Amino acid sequence: MLRTLDPELRRALVERVRYCHEMGIYDFYRRESAALDETSSSTSQSELREEMAARKSAVAPVIAEDALASVNSNPERSVSDPAAALKLIREDLGDCTRCKLHQGRKQIVFGVGNPRAELMFVGEGPGADEDAQGEPFVGRAGQLLNNMIKAMGLRREDVYIANIVKCRPPGNRQPERDECETCSPFLMRQIAAITPKAMVALGATAAKNLLAISAPMSELRGRWYDFKPAGSDASWPGSRLAVTYHPAFLLRDPRQKGEAWKDLQMVMKYLGIEPPKKAVD
Ligand code: SF4
Repeated sequence: MLRTLDPELRRALVERVRYCHEMGIYDFYRRESAALDETSSSTSQSELREEMAARKSAVAPVIAEDALASVNSNPERSVSDPAAALKLIREDLGDCTRCKLHQGRKQIVFGVGNPRAELMFVGEGPGADEDAQGEPFVGRAGQLLNNMIKAMGLRREDVYIANIVKCRPPGNRQPERDECETCSPFLMRQIAAITPKAMVALGATAAKNLLAISAPMSELRGRWYDFKPAGSDASWPGSRLAVTYHPAFLLRDPRQKGEAWKDLQMVMKYLGIEPPKKAVD
């Protein structure tokens, strides 16, 4: 028989599970060792199993059918259309104040592009232009990214562009670890909704956060990484992720554009895009 949860406990449970989902944790298990310890001295193994089964059926459904059922999936998991899924994620993000970056922003920069994109670019965070316009990569670095996309034979509207954090860090500093950890679950949900075939991490900060690897660009570039966010659809095999220089870095050091072009050519080859004659300019 199901127990009715105390409303306050239920609310706390729902919040806890929602938080875990935002962090990419979807599977929950009950710990049973305490019950074993309590009874092991005086109960046979078969009695123990019966006891555990009884406890399971009495308690687990309370959580599974009451609190968990209401949040067992992110809302976007109920829709198959990626555009609708992205809309639900945006609604879930709301007027986010989950990390301190909300304090200095003008607006949240969610992401832009084709919800069914085969290719997704992920940068670090919005700058002043992006903060003002509410769209990622619209300043000088954005212009260069547009040129890179065009050089690949694609249009900006063919791909999807997002950042690790969705609010502008003050003074364009690097986003801090806690800010990335708080914000990136929403990016993971965007990736899971779009299911891109390939992704490009723009710069070391994006690569480090997506791959949980801390390494110099020289080691990160020039190879593929398998990438699949936790909790994404089982039927999706996942994405392949490449790392290249951030366009802002290429503006500071244009000599590296040739290297970036090599990275993009690797991506084009994988996506079956005919290589145009022209490199990044
Ligand atoms: S950076 Fe992300 S988590 Fe932080 S306030 Fe903005 S939207 Fe929320």
